[in-house]
Amino acid sequence: MVYDLMNWLTAQFDASERWAQEASRHGDRYTPTGEHWRWECEDTDTAVTVDPMLSEYVEGVDGAPVGLRSVEGYPSTWGATLHHIAIRGQEELPAGVAGHIARQDPARTIRAVAAKRRIFERHGPILNDLNPYPVCMCCPNLDDDTNTEGERWPCLTVRLLTVEYDDQPGYRPEWGPQ
Ligand SMILES: [Zn+2]
Repeated sequence: MVYDLMNWLTAQFDASERWAQEASRHGDRYTPTGEHWRWECEDTDTAVTVDPMLSEYVEGVDGAPVGLRSVEGYPSTWGATLHHIAIRGQEELPAGVAGHIARQDPARTIRAVAAKRRIFERHGPILNDLNPYPVCMCCPNLDDDTNTEGERWPCLTVRLLTVEYDDQPGYRPEWGPQ
């Protein structure tokens, strides 16, 4: 059970990171820490405002199509700076959808995965002969008056880390928050 959950959750982190890295790759150009994305007018190459409160749809200058591009620039062989075009030629793009996509850019995913890995590390299990079950190395057992042993593992923090992935293969309902 301990290793099943540790391996499964680590695999979820790995998969999220891998997809974000793959989304940041185009040809031999690549930002390992993940690209930041923004919507730009394809005619003027300028960033467009995305706000469903202001406009239902996102469009470029004079109604030009918009594209999702990396903020990061990559040098071209002829000296210009190129941006990764993740999605091109969008017209009548709903602002809510556009905003959500840009907010979930690869850079954010990779930062989030790094933070979740650190949380998971801090809340790892202690396995020893004295305890019949593993306990968290970080969380106290609030039911233990002597305060000498940790919360039974997986602690609530680890259980909450599984929520995001509870629709992924291999998930077991007993790992979720109770
Ligand atoms: Zn814990």
